[in-house]
Amino acid sequence: MSVLIKNGRIITPDADYTADIFIEGETISAIGKNLSAGQAGLNVKANKEIDASGMLVFPGGIDPHVHLDMPFMGTFSSDTHETGTRAALFGGTTTVIDFVLQTQGKSLQSALDDWNSRAKGNAVGDYSFHMAVTDFNENTKKEIKHFIEEEGITSFKTFMAYKGALMIDDRQMIGLMEEVKQHGGLINVHATNGDMIDYLVQKHREEKKLSPLYHYLSQPEVTEAEASERFVDMGNYTGCPGYIVHLTCEGALNAVRNATKRNQHVFVETCIQYLILDASLYEKDFEGAKWVMSPPLREKKDQKTLWAGINQGLVNVVATDHCPFMWEQKLMGEKDFSKIPNGHPAIENRMELLYSEGVAKNKITLNKYVEVACTNPAKIFGMFPRKGTIAVGSDADIVIFDPNKKHTISAKTHHMNVDYSGYEGWEVTGKVKTVLLRGEIAIDNNECKIEKGFGKFIKRNKVAQNI
Ligand SMILES: [Zn+2]
Repeated sequence: MSVLIKNGRIITPDADYTADIFIEGETISAIGKNLSAGQAGLNVKANKEIDASGMLVFPGGIDPHVHLDMPFMGTFSSDTHETGTRAALFGGTTTVIDFVLQTQGKSLQSALDDWNSRAKGNAVGDYSFHMAVTDFNENTKKEIKHFIEEEGITSFKTFMAYKGALMIDDRQMIGLMEEVKQHGGLINVHATNGDMIDYLVQKHREEKKLSPLYHYLSQPEVTEAEASERFVDMGNYTGCPGYIVHLTCEGALNAVRNATKRNQHVFVETCIQYLILDASLYEKDFEGAKWVMSPPLREKKDQKTLWAGINQGLVNVVATDHCPFMWEQKLMGEKDFSKIPNGHPAIENRMELLYSEGVAKNKITLNKYVEVACTNPAKIFGMFPRKGTIAVGSDADIVIFDPNKKHTISAKTHHMNVDYSGYEGWEVTGKVKTVLLRGEIAIDNNECKIEKGFGKFIKRNKVAQNI
């Protein structure tokens, strides 16, 4: 199979030009002006030609923070690896990184086996895993090297919150950092102060303050700022590269900015919802449960800080923390906010929302857009230059995007397996038209052309310490 994409405006973090892309098999084999059959020195004979005139052409999006088919709070997130990666493709995301969660008292390997049993043969788009270490002990320690060197799983997630199920203490954190650093990996962190949050949750419950608003009020900005700085300091002490997931607020970003003076390697991710939604949504009685996630949505001033952080290069990635639950699942917490499954659906909407709210509204440039949505996740997590760019030899994961087409987001038309949208009625400028995954046309004019099982597990390299 070969494909020739003609006359698209190709965008990468450091380039913006109009050219043709020739794809043979799974990878890009030539990029140039006016490529055509029989051209000297090139064997450009395509089975299929796509006219991309007037379209933007960028690398397939990478969402490094998704939770598919994940057991959590007594239920499972409602997108499987099939429905979640398919929805991602519809929205221009060709690769996702999902989280495997160790069960406390059990091995990392048994958790991986469990996730493989659900993901293998089911994914439509490409995927990888982070390994969440929830119980770091002498046995876990012995498994780290194997995961980095043999399994191609080079990033390890830690939780500074969710005590009793996922949280590790600082002693475990330091031990894990030393081991991960030694073998060339990276630590992802959910950086909020679990003890402070547990205290506030209990206090609100005792006071019979049980609506979704109190989910928000139980996780004030300081809980995130404190933990972010503590994490960065521990990373600085051990020399282990770190990556703060879903950073939401000014206090936490300032803490990172502060600690950056101390010369550590830390990357920062925010998620699309924190850039465009705010905490006023929690005032809608139980409907606010749609946006119950941790950390919660913040204030308008925090949105400004995050957009600025992207432009300053301090926020490196825009992900989703996609973790959908059906409305019926959210109702588990109707009488008590602490029982609402945490998470919201966005895997399909990230690329279009970030374009519409960021590029079309002049908050970020097109180059920056590709950098934070496609290229940086590949670089930070050891998939570059196979993924995350448009270059000769790279996987032909390509999005052909109509920058002018307007559409409206709705649960009635989205492809995620969830019966509401956090963005219902949202008017968006710019739409994904065609998506190629490893040279195959995956999405074309709102139809999926590939089947479950097409998505491959992507083994990742040791982690780059600088990008
Ligand atoms: Zn998450």
